[in-house]
Amino acid sequence: MPSEFSGKHVTVAGLGVSGVPAAKVLHGLGAHVTVVNDGADERARTQAAELEALGVTVRLGDGAASDSGSAAGLPEGTELIVTAPGWKPTKPLFAAAEQAGVPVWGDVELAWRLRGHGGRKAAPWLAVTGTNGKTTTVQMLASILAAAGLRTAAVGNIGVSLLDAVTGDTEYDVLAVELSSYQLHWAPSLRAHSAVVLNLAADHLDWHGSMEAYAADKGRVYEGNQVACVYNVADRATEDLVRAADVEEGCRAVGFTLGTPGPSQLGVVEGLLVDRAFVEDRHKNAQELAEVSDVNPPAPHNIANALAAAALARAYGVPAAAVRDGLRAFTPDAHRIAHVADVDGVAYVDDSKATNTHAAEASLAAYEPIVWIAGGLAKGATFDGLVEGAAKRLRGAVLIGADRALIREALARHAPEVPVVDLDRTDTGAMPQAVREARRLAEPGDTVLLAPACASMDMFTNYNKRGDAFAEAVRELGA
Ligand code: ADP
Repeated sequence: MPSEFSGKHVTVAGLGVSGVPAAKVLHGLGAHVTVVNDGADERARTQAAELEALGVTVRLGDGAASDSGSAAGLPEGTELIVTAPGWKPTKPLFAAAEQAGVPVWGDVELAWRLRGHGGRKAAPWLAVTGTNGKTTTVQMLASILAAAGLRTAAVGNIGVSLLDAVTGDTEYDVLAVELSSYQLHWAPSLRAHSAVVLNLAADHLDWHGSMEAYAADKGRVYEGNQVACVYNVADRATEDLVRAADVEEGCRAVGFTLGTPGPSQLGVVEGLLVDRAFVEDRHKNAQELAEVSDVNPPAPHNIANALAAAALARAYGVPAAAVRDGLRAFTPDAHRIAHVADVDGVAYVDDSKATNTHAAEASLAAYEPIVWIAGGLAKGATFDGLVEGAAKRLRGAVLIGADRALIREALARHAPEVPVVDLDRTDTGAMPQAVREARRLAEPGDTVLLAPACASMDMFTNYNKRGDAFAEAVRELGA
């Protein structure tokens, strides 16, 4: 069947997670696809061979991703670029595209345009973005939608890729879509049914160039919303983004709060999650959705995630009972405030996924007293605010990793009485020693919390491996 892509010259910028499926789909739709990719390592060569066998042109070691002006220009005849979301907007390739009037789409934009393709049902998108909590919220949302009997999946930055979801054989009623700020940057025509920005803290600023540019890209998720723009009452910046957005007539701003909800908000009242937005006469009525204890784990920031997921589900028309059932059925992904074990009356919690200070702040707020294991790659972050806010709850701290001095100095400034163990080693024995030191500092009733506030790559392949090493070390304590 001819498509708008038939005969079109499309350049796919970057192989990898999104580039390969994009190239295949576009080729299948009759486009002339050229893939440009800087690296030419073994993985790239294997992926290139697979695409070339289909008839796709691949230029490895192309220089297109380069930040310097010496990059290769647009491949001859390019009418559209589909870029890997991680490519920085400052690359010369994009300047060349702009000059030539060639549009640039990310994988999300492509997926959005392909909805309903080939006679499939075009499932609406419920979109989730924010600095932290995206994956958890999207999974909660998918669980709630499934509990309502809807055909759905958590897609986007996690699980099923968006392209697969819109072009594959499975039909969906509605999709729970996780979107990163990079993906939103490259998705100009996306129009979600409803969307949430969970929170906004400085992150990825090297990519976006400034906090304003980062916020603006996050805010794109609200553009053209049809039913509800969901914002965080405790985070003014998210509400400001709703105000700035151009939405469909009748679309509502709906807040979520850990306090008592006002009209058009979801919140918490006496241990219950309560909806005062999607009820008849919201000035007088409220609908009980679930108990706080239905949220797993019931840490404050996770209750906020549950309220955001509930708001999107309710915007889609899901009944209250499905919110409760979906939340009860949800289990968080590994390394997100996961309770590993209790040893001698001390709880050991793995929040290895807390790779930035905003995330660590949330998990440090959830326990008391805490022996905090922190450190790794700071990515330019400063720790004064984090340490100052948590100081009262700290029993002690054990610091690991390359940038641990930054945290040590913040502790010295804001929590000089808190005992600190500084581990000057990065070998495989470091985590077991950190856990043993934490045990020494902890008293019964305390929580030993791995919430590093840093990336893991100085010592581990990724945050999963860091969390695994922690859990393994805790098990050794109990053995
Ligand atoms: P993301 O997909 O945005 O990285 P995750 O759901 O994977 O988010 O959670 C990542 C980390 O962020 C968690 O381990 C936790 O430390 C923290 N976190 C989760 N939800 C929130 C929230 N609502 N506010 C602040 N931090 C959060």
